[in-house]
Amino acid sequence: MESSNFVTAGRAPGEDWRCGGRLLVDLAALADNWRATARLAGRAEASAVVKGDAYGIGIEAAATALAAAGCRTFFVALPSEGLRLRPLLPEAPIYVLNGLPPGAAADLAEAGLQPVLGSAEEVDEWATYRAAGGTGAAALHVDTGMQRLGVTIEEAAAIAPSAKALGLSLVMSHLAAADQPDHPLNAAQLARFRSVASAFAGLPASLSNSAGLHLGEDFLFDLVRPGIALYGARSTAAAPPLATVVTAEARIVQVRDVAAATAVGYGASEHVRRASRIAILGAGYADGYHRRAGSADDRPGASVHLHGRRAPLVGRISMDLIAVDVTDIPEVRRGDHAELFGPHIAIDEVAERAETIGYELLTGLGRRYERHYRGGA
Ligand SMILES: *Cc1c(COP(=O)(O)O)cnc(C)c1O
Repeated sequence: MESSNFVTAGRAPGEDWRCGGRLLVDLAALADNWRATARLAGRAEASAVVKGDAYGIGIEAAATALAAAGCRTFFVALPSEGLRLRPLLPEAPIYVLNGLPPGAAADLAEAGLQPVLGSAEEVDEWATYRAAGGTGAAALHVDTGMQRLGVTIEEAAAIAPSAKALGLSLVMSHLAAADQPDHPLNAAQLARFRSVASAFAGLPASLSNSAGLHLGEDFLFDLVRPGIALYGARSTAAAPPLATVVTAEARIVQVRDVAAATAVGYGASEHVRRASRIAILGAGYADGYHRRAGSADDRPGASVHLHGRRAPLVGRISMDLIAVDVTDIPEVRRGDHAELFGPHIAIDEVAERAETIGYELLTGLGRRYERHYRGGA
């Protein structure tokens, strides 16, 4: 954890004065987390899910680091994401989870991307493309109980004899409640997927996301699809602690004295109880720091970390500013940086305060931070 944070005092050399905050993305930690999932996967292949701009950290940097660590198979949500990856990873299979856009079979295949066919309509369209001589490969998504994407089990049974003609390279399903190990849906989905996988004997099968890795060996099949675990956020309470990949910091714009019983911020929703020193940070909900993580007289908010201490938020979060109570941290100065989340404040803690999940915080980070990558190849 040594120096996994930025220097937190004054203006760092080369610091970008044009930005209100900075993001440190630790690609070595990303690679470590991938290796940890690969160990959990045992004999199954560990792929990487890099949709959503690699959960906000930057798909090019993330995929390059993951490939260097040994990852061979990648999943994106959209063709546009796959197109960004393709030139960086000339050999890797890249699957497009959101499936086949209408009329796109030849273009997608030409781009070297594999759609994850998720409805009978998509399968039909792909079959037409293949029958006309198309040579692209595809995965088949079978719905085993989530009702989001995937052909039905009955449809899958009818498709199975055409697996070769369709150029199928993978059969997969997705767990709806893997973060709740005791949820009966897990066992039900497992049983259904087993029957699907046996109907597609000889084809690699994949069921588990990050949380599924902790449900037991039965859930691993041939390939696992971890996403969130790679980026250092929690998929399930059962997951072991992960290396911190993303550290978000905001610079202190000013420090001010506020008299006891005075309200701070929009809506005057919180009053300081004592005479206080309030630091105003230069990041806000426009930077993806959810407004819901703010504080009010009747509801505590999230905390930030600076000078080795935690400082609680005071009042509502603005678009570009956050107020924190630094009364007990006298060394705080204008220009210092406060950690919003990172090695000292878990992203999941902020997410919990904001009544959301780490996934949403990461993918919503926005474009205003000064971004630094380290630990890359
Ligand atoms: C997003 C996604 C994953 C990765 O899920 P995590 O919970 O982030 O590990 C795996 N498979 C599918 C189909 C997905 O949509």
